[in-house]
Amino acid sequence: MAKGKIVIDIDMCKGCGLCLAACKFAVTSLSQQGQSNKHGYRYLTAAQPEQCTGCGMCALMCPDSAITVWRSTKKS
Ligand code: SF4
Ligand code: SF4
Repeated sequence: MAKGKIVIDIDMCKGCGLCLAACKFAVTSLSQQGQSNKHGYRYLTAAQPEQCTGCGMCALMCPDSAITVWRSTKKS
């Protein structure tokens, strides 16, 4: 089964949350109140990275290209 990994450029993120709605697997969440990037925004974190399938929907939704998705298709 394909497994994925996301890499988040936290300083590109403005905390809009569009990608959160796109992820069916609840992989991501926003940083805690008071945790902000260099622009003063809460930013995306991968709270449950083991759940990522690499579907790419979060990256497609992000208007700021803050997410890169890696996908493994290694056969078991
Ligand atoms: S690649 Fe898919 S499963 Fe992984 S965090 Fe993004 S939307 Fe969720
Ligand atoms: S869609 Fe992009 S800018 Fe918005 S919260 Fe997600 S990673 Fe951040």
